[in-house]
Amino acid sequence: MARIVLDVGLPLDVVDSDALPLPSVSGFEAPDVSLLGVIISHPHQDHYGLAYRLPSETRCLIGEAARSILLAADVFTPASASFENVTLLKDREPITLGPFTITPFLVDHSAYDAYAILVEAEGKRLFYSGDLRAHGRKGRLFERLVHDPPGSVDVLIMEGTTIGRQAQAFPTEAALEPPTGTAPPATEAGQAGRTPGRSASTRNGGNTPRISSLGRARRDHEGCRGVRARRSRPGRRRDRVPPRCRLSRALRFTAPAAGRLPAGG
Ligand SMILES: [Zn+2]
Repeated sequence: MARIVLDVGLPLDVVDSDALPLPSVSGFEAPDVSLLGVIISHPHQDHYGLAYRLPSETRCLIGEAARSILLAADVFTPASASFENVTLLKDREPITLGPFTITPFLVDHSAYDAYAILVEAEGKRLFYSGDLRAHGRKGRLFERLVHDPPGSVDVLIMEGTTIGRQAQAFPTEAALEPPTGTAPPATEAGQAGRTPGRSASTRNGGNTPRISSLGRARRDHEGCRGVRARRSRPGRRRDRVPPRCRLSRALRFTAPAAGRLPAGG
């Protein structure tokens, strides 16, 4: 019987990923042609972290940007993966794999290029939310999913990482930034905007929305605004312009504004 697998994650608290037994799934330890593919919903370790231990010919379905992120992270993360047999997920573009029709839905998540997955086969429909949220920079994707969901779903598998934290409200990414011309809020991004010179933040490197928030806060740093204002004056001598904030300059390349990001989660 043909099968597919939705995510092949590594628990986040595992120290030695090589020592962890693989889930008992035919096709994981040795090739099995009935395993048609493994879908990686997004580039978070608890969704892809064991993929590197699967047979190299295993078909992997993953977003293009997510694949690039994992390739880049391969240098730093032992459990990262470089897949040989790849089918790229694209927002709302169905993929036929044996008896399965797989339709990805781009979602808002702290990992870039994240998808919910609709699987159709033999007249049944299963919807897997992957990890998703509504308060990120692409919260509009959550609204789109709510207003235009896949209909007539027989089985729903939902993420529930924070389902037990009902008393805890999450600020939106936009709320973490200081509005231009106001005092920075007491948040990580606000701190980055308030701190002269270089500042540091420790964070999952895959959390591109937060990196973008830091970049935006830094962009609105008072000194940087001053630099831009002075540079805009005609005739001003370049050597009298203060050196630009290096972090702001770096972040402009690593964290483009959300509106200019290519399709991704
Ligand atoms: Zn995740």
